[in-house]
Amino acid sequence: MTHSLLLLPGDGIGPEVMAETRRVLAWFTQNRNLAFAVEEDLVGGIAYETHGTPAPDAMMAKALAADAVLFGAVGGPRWDKLPFRDKPEQGLLRLRKDLGLFANLRPALCFEALKDASTLKPEIVAGLDILIVRELTGGVYFGEPRGIETLADGSRRGVDTQVYTSGEIRRIARVAFELARLRGRRVASAEKSNVMHTSVLWREEVQALHDAEFPDVQLTHILADNCAMQLVRNLRQFDVIVTDNLFGDLLSDEAAQLTGSIGMLPSASLGARDAAGRQPALYEPIHGSAPDIAGQGLANPIAGLLSFAMCLRYSFGRAEDAALLERAVERVLAEGYRTADIAQPGMTKLGTAAMTSAILKALDKLAA
Ligand code: NAD
Repeated sequence: MTHSLLLLPGDGIGPEVMAETRRVLAWFTQNRNLAFAVEEDLVGGIAYETHGTPAPDAMMAKALAADAVLFGAVGGPRWDKLPFRDKPEQGLLRLRKDLGLFANLRPALCFEALKDASTLKPEIVAGLDILIVRELTGGVYFGEPRGIETLADGSRRGVDTQVYTSGEIRRIARVAFELARLRGRRVASAEKSNVMHTSVLWREEVQALHDAEFPDVQLTHILADNCAMQLVRNLRQFDVIVTDNLFGDLLSDEAAQLTGSIGMLPSASLGARDAAGRQPALYEPIHGSAPDIAGQGLANPIAGLLSFAMCLRYSFGRAEDAALLERAVERVLAEGYRTADIAQPGMTKLGTAAMTSAILKALDKLAA
């Protein structure tokens, strides 16, 4: 069976990291009986410069047709002054919207070899294994009305609207409960029901779905600000955290930092499965285009590679191959190889391509 993949490297370190994913993809093609039909296209700032839009229709058509999309990163100071609709980030937002990617899965895992690299004490972060499930297509990033207007007195007013329907809340909560059943059977639902109406609705709908269909999963409700605090205080209390688009954006970045580097963290965004079983999916490292290190061969490729591992697991049903890639990463870290962002005294510092070469070697050994 051939899996169709669309690669969208994007801007900044996106293309550098995607080039490494291609090498690992080739390894799996050669060694693990996997066949990919790979296409590549432009998105973000580079697409704006080439086609006048960060999300060209032709690219979107390819994304809709593919079994999965691997995304690099978009954005950079070159495009900061563009009007909102032309900004590189619109490329990613359109992909999320048009593919209906409502569920964003962000694992925060601490590799044993990196527990000393965290800003938290090793005994607090050791064994960290949290999955944050963030609602991705609703809430304040999309709600109408939105915009900036000039008022009669000449002053200006900016408006964003936080809006959720019960259907949107239930479908993301369902994803969280189903994933919790494959893990520790615990879900914490984070919102601000003390001050926001959408959050009151969120809490009621999550509880109702739990009571009706998932009584075997332990559900707790937590205020999002307290959740942010608990993530640096007592994070092992969490298994799956489900939350809305805005709070999820913040909480998942915070959880990311606990593992030592943003260069280590993958993510998956999934849509609704159709009658034929096809599920739109986009996989991307959570880091941005890192303009400060772009073009220097310094970027950590691991977040991109672990995103490909998630793709193997969730889109292609190849959990064993995903675990093999994750073990190869673990092994290379345990052997003391580090990119600059996770460098530690006494360890061997590698650039982007050399880190991938070490992971490929580890794959060879593990598969032998
Ligand atoms: P960033 O994630 O690009 O960088 C934050 C810091 O982390 C930088 O110091 C960077 O060097 C470092 N870093 C990030 N990825 C790394 C890696 N793989 N290896 C080593 N170090 C790494 O976030 P930012 O600086 O806030 O944003 C830069 C640009 O990226 C902006 O234009 C922003 O809009 C965009 N952005 C895009 C996405 C995306 O495409 N999904 C996400 C976040 C930010």
